[in-house]
Amino acid sequence: MARRVFAAFAVLMMGLPLLPVPDFWITQSIYIGLYTLVVLGLVLLTGVAGLISFGQAAFVGIGAYTAAYLATQTALPPLATLAIGLGLAAGAAFVLGAITLRMSGHYLPLATIAWGLALNYTMANLEWLGKYDGILGIPAMSLFGVDLGTGRGLHPLVWAIALLAALALIRLLDSRPGRAIRALKSGSTMAEAMGISTFRYKLTAFVLAALLAALSGWLFAHFQRSVSPAPFAIGKGIEYLFMAVLGGIGHVWGAFLGAGVVRVVEDQLQVLLPRLIGTSGNFETIVFGIVLVAVLKYAPEGLWSFVGRWRPTSRRVRDWEGVTPLARRDKPAGGQRLLEVDAVRKQFGGLVAVNDVSFAVDAAQIVALIGPNGAGKSTTFNLVTGVLPLTAGAVRWRGQSIGGLPSRAIARLGISRTFQHVKMIPEMTVLENVALGGYGRTRAGVAQAVLRLDRAEERRLFAEAEAQLARVGMAEQVHELAGNLPLGSQRLMEIARALASDPALLLLDEPAAGLRHHEKQALATVLRQLKGEGMSLLLVEHDMDFVMGLADRVVVMEFGTRLMEGTPAEVQASPAVRAAYLGTEH
Ligand code: ADP
Ligand code: MG
Repeated sequence: MARRVFAAFAVLMMGLPLLPVPDFWITQSIYIGLYTLVVLGLVLLTGVAGLISFGQAAFVGIGAYTAAYLATQTALPPLATLAIGLGLAAGAAFVLGAITLRMSGHYLPLATIAWGLALNYTMANLEWLGKYDGILGIPAMSLFGVDLGTGRGLHPLVWAIALLAALALIRLLDSRPGRAIRALKSGSTMAEAMGISTFRYKLTAFVLAALLAALSGWLFAHFQRSVSPAPFAIGKGIEYLFMAVLGGIGHVWGAFLGAGVVRVVEDQLQVLLPRLIGTSGNFETIVFGIVLVAVLKYAPEGLWSFVGRWRPTSRRVRDWEGVTPLARRDKPAGGQRLLEVDAVRKQFGGLVAVNDVSFAVDAAQIVALIGPNGAGKSTTFNLVTGVLPLTAGAVRWRGQSIGGLPSRAIARLGISRTFQHVKMIPEMTVLENVALGGYGRTRAGVAQAVLRLDRAEERRLFAEAEAQLARVGMAEQVHELAGNLPLGSQRLMEIARALASDPALLLLDEPAAGLRHHEKQALATVLRQLKGEGMSLLLVEHDMDFVMGLADRVVVMEFGTRLMEGTPAEVQASPAVRAAYLGTEH
């Protein structure tokens, strides 16, 4: 269905110049295609990755000015000027992103405003770029002998590129790098704990968006046959963002809708409003401002949500029967010392949350960390997995110090975890969420994803994700949206996700919370099985029956300090523990 609608739309846009459509509408349609390219970049950057840029018009300008300058000053063919324009835009985005994307919050939007203003000012003041008049007399383009000098000639090229860009984006989003980019919006902690460099993918999204903008600019220059600074000003950058929001910022097809509506309405308003008001001026800007507020209030998902509502949600076709499983890591031999936590300390200002705590985990051993709320158990997990930096002390993994490593590096060593407060991507399916866990065991990048050279690896990854979900008893829920699950299932999903990374050590923070009795028993069976396979577990849990029946060693914490460590029997017999902890519970 979706494929057929797409094919029909593509054929229509390719053939539009052959139909008796007036030139005016061909021109409008070209502009819509050009805007769509830029807005597709914003769908990826803002809608999917959650990063805001006001400066996309400046990247359009780079593409357009590069084409204009080189076409008038040199004999370079259009494809060469395109390559140079893309290179310049990617370079600029890389530098700008590398500086700002490590900083959190509002630095990127602010930097893109500054960048947009600065670049526009530069264009308007450089003698060799023609100052405010810009560059005129760009020769008509012909590619492979086809004359693209007229609107009707250029229309199919613009739309072919826009549609291909949309397809590429759809493919990207449904891939390993795409899932990493989709994970960015929910904060970096979980993604980093799955071995993903969030900085790298923010930069990737920013550079890709800049490339789409520059591509639009190159087409724009050849369509207009002239460039001037005005269309690349900061106001246009805001308008692109408006198109993205209006269309539906998280939807690839919303880009087409937003670009189309804004272009057509803007054009009508430019004629209509001055007539109504009686004086000339850019009044459409005011109308857009009001519409934007209304959209954000009443349809925050944009216009596409009204179209997309009756569209069936896409569910991944199960095509991974019988694939070769992903390679497993060699499990350490039983009895070997794996993790050493050596006098670790964490202070939050004056509060000592973890006070020089030491313990160890051996291969194929289950160690439980217990203690009342606020004892410092989750903080200890965060210290071991690199989510929080140590104030003092050391953490060693198979003899090597791992204190101070970023959590993604620790994850790659074979330490995986769940979170006390479930961290997931609610709008992804359960299966996709779990596939994030297998990130470090797969390789595909953006190019492979767009060219669909990643499908064999994807099948292996999804087979693994499905197997891990089946293991925790969630085979029936693989295609549900993670956000729709009850809390207990979300916790189990997190365990499956951690398992998908094939860890040697698994850290579970209150895995049984929210589970019913028989679900707890099933979970205990799975954990015993994992231990039998040579995996080590460190778990925090309040359910004493669950813990005492499972753990080989128990570490008791209270107020940040280690109260005692021993076998379950020793801990249960200890008067100190009874007084401090068990006594208050029972
Ligand atoms: P537990 O998991 O044993 O219930 P936590 O490790 O979550 O305990 O918390 C230990 C103490 O550290 C608590 O007093 C908590 O309020 C405090 N704490 C935890 N995280 C932070 C933080 N990011 N900033 C400040 N205080 C924190
Ligand atoms: Mg906790």
